[in-house]
Amino acid sequence: MNDCLFCKIVKGEIPSKKVYEDDTVYAFYDIDPQAPVHVLIIPKEHIKSAAKIDSGNSAVAAHCLEVAAVLSEELGLTDGFRIVTNTGDCAGQSVKHLHFHLLGGRDFTWPPG
Ligand code: 5GP
Ligand code: ZN
Repeated sequence: MNDCLFCKIVKGEIPSKKVYEDDTVYAFYDIDPQAPVHVLIIPKEHIKSAAKIDSGNSAVAAHCLEVAAVLSEELGLTDGFRIVTNTGDCAGQSVKHLHFHLLGGRDFTWPPG
């Protein structure tokens, strides 16, 4: 999508601190980290949100979670981590391109705010 921030990051039109990349997935550090480790894992293709995951694109969504597992180990999150996907306005999704927050390096409370 032309006006999508994360599509621009995938294309390199907006700089980002890359953590991982393959043919279908890109991962980079969040600009405003909410934990000592805060990485965003995104499909390269534009999917608006988790509400738009379907049989045609679920493989890349699952691959994002595989990447999260690999990165959690590489980034030393041996005690655990949290994966968050805010979906829609009431959940606070500010960028309308599917992304998985990988958060770690501190304790988290439950339920979330
Ligand atoms: P959301 O609020 O949609 O769940 O998450 C969007 C995330 O994108 C936020 O955590 C925000 O800090 C991050 N973000 C917004 N703009 C940029 C940017 O230009 N670069 C990077 N690396 N992260 C961004
Ligand atoms: Zn996009």
